[in-house]
Amino acid sequence: MIELKNIEKYYANKGVKSYILRHITTSIKQGEFVSIMGPSGAGKSTLLNILGMLEEPTYGDYEFMGENVLSLNERKRIDLYRSHIGFVFQAYHLIDEMTVAENIEAPLLYKKIGSAERKSRVADILDRFSMVAKRDLFPNQLSGGQQQLVGIARALVAQPSIILADEPTGNLQSVQAIQIMELFKRLNEEEGMTIIQVTHSEINAGYGSRILHLLDGIIKEDVNLK
Ligand code: ADP
Ligand code: ADP
Repeated sequence: MIELKNIEKYYANKGVKSYILRHITTSIKQGEFVSIMGPSGAGKSTLLNILGMLEEPTYGDYEFMGENVLSLNERKRIDLYRSHIGFVFQAYHLIDEMTVAENIEAPLLYKKIGSAERKSRVADILDRFSMVAKRDLFPNQLSGGQQQLVGIARALVAQPSIILADEPTGNLQSVQAIQIMELFKRLNEEEGMTIIQVTHSEINAGYGSRILHLLDGIIKEDVNLK
């Protein structure tokens, strides 16, 4: 599903290059649940953003579902992103002026899905997440855990091939974190959803099938948990 070859990312400042990622070569198959771990500044978010097509590497090849991502024009890259990727942000990134239901519906508007189908998909996912009663509330009327559930519902509503999550439980209490990890595990095991998360938590990583340990922009260790 994902092939990274010799990915590098650096920022040049007065001729001096500071490397964020170096020689990242790896592949991720459909159905894997991968955790990217490592100390602060190791390059974890940068790698996830590159995988999510939100950032470009300075060098290297990125193949996603058979497409050479870095040779696509912006239009095609956005289409590829919208068709296949559900991104979950640590700070939720919900739109404050929109209700829970409207936030979840937003990706379907981009995909030009008709109104009846949109309503039915939003209703299904609210039901599945036991959030029907919250549908007309605004994000600031929800707890952090509930806001992150909305963030995940929004990522799932367009039926992506993969979920990319940047410290999805970073702002949550442990009970809520466990709830989110149980949900990811279920999506992965029962629906074959591919998941890649950045996490600092060994507990969170324990829900997955593989850990990539990053250190100073390099994959230091690649551990299979199954
Ligand atoms: P992590 O997620 O592992 O904490 P990041 O991917 O966020 O690491 O960042 C890795 C490094 O890249 C950090 O040291 C950060 O300061 C640096 N970095 C990020 N963005 C920029 C930028 N625009 N210019 C220079 N350095 C940057
Ligand atoms: P949980 O543990 O399920 O995340 P909390 O204990 O944080 O929930 O919140 C309990 C209830 O209080 C929730 O139903 C939520 O909608 C409501 N709530 C939480 N924070 C706020 C807030 N800032 N404003 C209004 N309602 C809130």
